[in-house]
Amino acid sequence: MKYYLKPLTFITIFAFALFACSSDDSSSTDNANDGDDDDEEVAVTELHAAFAAFNQDAVTVILSDDGTEVTIETTGYPDHASIYWEPDNALYKDEPDVTKTTQDTYIGGGQGEAASITVDATPNLTGATVATQLNTIGIAVSGASIFNDQEGMGDLDQAAKSLDWAGAHKGPGVYHYHLEPTPITSNDDSLVGILLDGVFIYGRQCSSTGAVPTDLDASGGHTSTTQFTDGAEEYHYHIINEVYAAGNYAYAPAYVLFAGPFQGY
Ligand SMILES: [Zn+2]
Ligand SMILES: [Zn+2]
Repeated sequence: MKYYLKPLTFITIFAFALFACSSDDSSSTDNANDGDDDDEEVAVTELHAAFAAFNQDAVTVILSDDGTEVTIETTGYPDHASIYWEPDNALYKDEPDVTKTTQDTYIGGGQGEAASITVDATPNLTGATVATQLNTIGIAVSGASIFNDQEGMGDLDQAAKSLDWAGAHKGPGVYHYHLEPTPITSNDDSLVGILLDGVFIYGRQCSSTGAVPTDLDASGGHTSTTQFTDGAEEYHYHIINEVYAAGNYAYAPAYVLFAGPFQGY
């Protein structure tokens, strides 16, 4: 992993993402602290240990000079197989039960896969929640984008036949996960990625107990140790262990990766 300290550069990729899965779901912001964007930022002196688990070929993590923000930049190229790679790519995987999205693009095609998010180094766990929105809501350890449980032109179930074994697909926008990404985690406690509110998300099990947690909030979050916190307790999300009814998905059962709301904004 390349750790750089440099002036913050806000590379806005959201323009690209406008062409990604859109949805008519009017995700409203439910934030009791509306207008209160001036929360005191808590500075850190070093990057969270969990960033060491990210795909170093794709992901660059940058701590801001003042230690209050972390920028995660990615090429968006996942380090695992998929039908969405070009057939001559070593990572191409034939998935006969998957029907690719109608754009029939490959990873690296269309609008490309690059994404960048800037998050608070210390999430604001005030109790206020914010709904997830369209497009990139996080970056997975593989380097690819995380989306929520919504899909343009219909609900996610209708698009599920285009999701690969990683619970991901690509239209003209970036390759992105909607479901439990089995190359990263399959009913275990592996780190999955980091979301826009600066909170890390893990698989369905928690390393603190070696089991599926029973104390999760509505977002799939709770506070406990993780394999990256050296014994300290920290708020984090899990993929909620609840089967999502996606009859068109070729690799059932499906588990939604993250539906929100964010707890750390
Ligand atoms: Zn999608
Ligand atoms: Zn946990």
